[in-house]
Amino acid sequence: MERVYIGLGSNLADPAEQLRNALTALAQLDHCKMVGVSSFYASDSLLPGQPRYTNAVAALDCALEPLTLLDALQAIELDQGRERHERWGPRTLDLDIIVFGDRLIDEPRLKVPHYHLQARPFVLYPLAELAPELQLADGRSLKNLLADCPFVGLERLF
Ligand code: ATP
Ligand code: MG
Ligand code: MG
Repeated sequence: MERVYIGLGSNLADPAEQLRNALTALAQLDHCKMVGVSSFYASDSLLPGQPRYTNAVAALDCALEPLTLLDALQAIELDQGRERHERWGPRTLDLDIIVFGDRLIDEPRLKVPHYHLQARPFVLYPLAELAPELQLADGRSLKNLLADCPFVGLERLF
């Protein structure tokens, strides 16, 4: 089993309900065990003109290979009505693999740790609730990333 952190985001169709449904689906994944969920946060969209997002991070202990987990996450996204139009467009559900154990993955379909983690308070702050001492496989510490990423545009909900 490897400890995996998954970033959840939604800004359409009752985002908090989308996240709750996604957490139920994650908890039912074969060969995985859900071991933690952060608070929910509201965050400003990175692109102007979109509704605000609801975000959270979940921790799983996972025996699946990374690409198999990605397939399962994309199936959950589709199941919850995810449509891909423009990149970074509004979405019912986004499930990103933020960290996968100690792995550094650089494949066409999967980059881990998530390439934009350091610039995303809506990932770093919920992640810190679950793993404040986290060291990334590339040597960076979550504490240092947080020090460079102010709590801006973010609101802790519950
Ligand atoms: P961003 O990656 O900037 O958060 P996004 O989540 O909106 O954007 P998506 O449309 O959900 O992007 O995914 C685009 C592609 O990113 C996916 O088809 C997937 O193959 C790839 N991808 C690469 N690395 C990851 C990762 N760590 N987690 C999830 N998807 C990834
Ligand atoms: Mg994303
Ligand atoms: Mg995504």
